[in-house]
Amino acid sequence: MEPVISVMLQILRQCYPVSPLPLVTPSSAYAFSVPGSFTPEPPCALSEEDFEDDGDEEVDKDLDSEDVKEEYDDLETDVDKLSSKPGLDRPEEELMQYEAMCLELSYSFEELESKFGDDANFEDSQDTNHHHIPTAASPKQHCLKKDQTSWGQEKEDTVQTSLLSMVKMGRSSKKRPIKNIYHDVQSNCLGIDSLGNDVPDIQTSPKEDGWDIEAISCPRMSASFSNSTSPREAGEAIDKLLHLHPKHIPFHDPCLYMDKARRTRSVVDFKMVAFPDLWGHCPPPSAQSMLERKCGVQRIKIFEDVRRFIQPNDIINKVIFSLDEPWPLQDTASSCLRFFSKFESGNLRKAIQVREFEYDLLINADVNSCQHQQWFYFKVSGMRANIPYRFNIINCEKPNSQFNYGMQPTLYSVKEALLGRPSWIRTGNEICYYKNHYRQRAAATGSGKCYYTLTFVVTFPHDEDVCYLAYHYPYTYSALMTHLDILEKSINPRQVYFRQEVLCHTLGGNPCPLVTITAMPESSSTDHLEQFRHRPYQVITARVHPGESNASWVMKGTLEFLVSNDPVARLLRENFIFKIIPMLNPDGVINGNHRCSLRGEDLNRQWLSPQAHLQPTIYHAKGFLHYLCSIGRSPVVFCDFHGHSQKKNMFLYGCSVKETLWQAGCTVSASTLLEDVSYRTLPKILDKLAPAFTMSSCSFLVEKSRASTARVVVWREMGVSRSYTMESSYCGCNQGPYQVCETAGPSAGIHRNGEQ
Ligand SMILES: [Zn+2]
Repeated sequence: MEPVISVMLQILRQCYPVSPLPLVTPSSAYAFSVPGSFTPEPPCALSEEDFEDDGDEEVDKDLDSEDVKEEYDDLETDVDKLSSKPGLDRPEEELMQYEAMCLELSYSFEELESKFGDDANFEDSQDTNHHHIPTAASPKQHCLKKDQTSWGQEKEDTVQTSLLSMVKMGRSSKKRPIKNIYHDVQSNCLGIDSLGNDVPDIQTSPKEDGWDIEAISCPRMSASFSNSTSPREAGEAIDKLLHLHPKHIPFHDPCLYMDKARRTRSVVDFKMVAFPDLWGHCPPPSAQSMLERKCGVQRIKIFEDVRRFIQPNDIINKVIFSLDEPWPLQDTASSCLRFFSKFESGNLRKAIQVREFEYDLLINADVNSCQHQQWFYFKVSGMRANIPYRFNIINCEKPNSQFNYGMQPTLYSVKEALLGRPSWIRTGNEICYYKNHYRQRAAATGSGKCYYTLTFVVTFPHDEDVCYLAYHYPYTYSALMTHLDILEKSINPRQVYFRQEVLCHTLGGNPCPLVTITAMPESSSTDHLEQFRHRPYQVITARVHPGESNASWVMKGTLEFLVSNDPVARLLRENFIFKIIPMLNPDGVINGNHRCSLRGEDLNRQWLSPQAHLQPTIYHAKGFLHYLCSIGRSPVVFCDFHGHSQKKNMFLYGCSVKETLWQAGCTVSASTLLEDVSYRTLPKILDKLAPAFTMSSCSFLVEKSRASTARVVVWREMGVSRSYTMESSYCGCNQGPYQVCETAGPSAGIHRNGEQ
């Protein structure tokens, strides 16, 4: 019956009366006056491939009729374009400004002998922050002793082998699949105390404290915001809370976060800080499993939606939150939920109560744009415990989502945090993602742009709690700035060379950091300085797309690993200089964008000819890479971290002329061409060693539509053969030890999704 029912459901959906979105305008509620001749993109009907991340999405075959031939039409087959190196995109003398960002090449380290004393206290202080996830690849301690003496002298060609052998040794000894041992609490993922094995480390419950939980969840940042709480009082409230509920979170400090958040500039000048970002979060006690899809959920949701039309008496249809209407709309006495999103990375635009426990939600478009709604992050309060609330986000744009294949939104409960469990957890049941009956207002009668609904049901753990819901674990710009400062303080300056500087300022006036990590030279002797200065460069960037918060979490782990005591990290530091731009689009992240900069542009389509006053971070990132080339120090690896909404696991996109021509059918040119195949090495190593990595999702094709991405431009203009986009899933892994297998339990009788 399943195929018949599915056709029937589609017909039912087609029968809904087409209507415009319940918004005054599809353009963002936030506008920013940008430099340059700027015309906001027209609200055109986009084709499905316009929604792809980096070219790289596997569109669900059922939804997409695009055949293989068309896909290959996008391949670049002009051998000239593939193999010629275009000239410099700016006057050569301009590159000299980047010399100051490579101080390591000129610094003399004269103070090296005298400045630092004993290492011992650094080892101690490191331990409080550095406790790494025991990955399958963490080598055992004894490797350190064995190899330690020879490291400084090793030649580059032997580095790779020893690194590999160390990682391999560690891997075989520590392989342990993650099992979901807390399965019985997975129904709402909260209430760990029911297990009796995780006693909260505080004595008081939030209620006993007598705090107004809503007030402390959003401390005010500046005096300009009127009424009751002054910033000072808010600061005192936080201090008291921290005193009552101490929770050491590695690489986090709430007071420093508040300080950083005050300096962060947003388009509408946010006055509030979201509690989870301020307070910090710990990994949940167990791996988060993917949701198994229940048979018939779609059907139930459709019937509920149809009932809106045939039983209108049930329908409340009351706007209770809106960025477009005078604030506040909601009367606090009513029993409905309260919503809020005016904080960093927050972007809920409107909330409409549909039925007693059901809400339609609309996400804000990217600033100076009328599209790209996918990322969401908002606060919700005033709930009752153990009631299933249905949320429908009705203006999503992507034609398909991992929400149909096991992905769940993330939730943070302030009450749980105050009980000693500050965690973002995957939550929500009855999750579906489907095309709805809304069309763009301008084209409501024609074949305008379609919207998609993400629907999910949340059962909150506590009465009158304050919770935050997000598309994915949030990671704000202020969090990055906090993290970098703590990281810098945590390192042992005798061993680790760590420098943080400003690459440039963004259009919104925020500094974009550039980080340098390598090992300190052994001494200031000429030989050691020579070795230090001749280490090859690796350049890593992330978060050009603000909605891809997973890229920031991968970057956070990368930074923590690179400065750590792990023997592999030491070896890497001793042999490379890492230049890292952890957030290429701070403004987008701050203002809750999904894809764009403040000019409403996708910055990963601006690498061909960026301009200093329009796309400053891209202009200077590219300028810096040009500088490295100009002094003969092109990076051995360039990698740009992204998040992927359609696939599981992690994988790389690289560039190969031969593979592109071959795939496009130009076999003659492909067979006569010589190509350095080093671009294959790194993915092959990762495939062997990294449990989350999957070779089968990698691609090395150069597409015309990606000609202006970081990966293609750095490969073609700087001649970096190992130039990659690294994608990590928003959802999770369906292979290896990170795959979380559901055991049979309350969910028996449900079938797994068809991806297996
Ligand atoms: Zn991306």
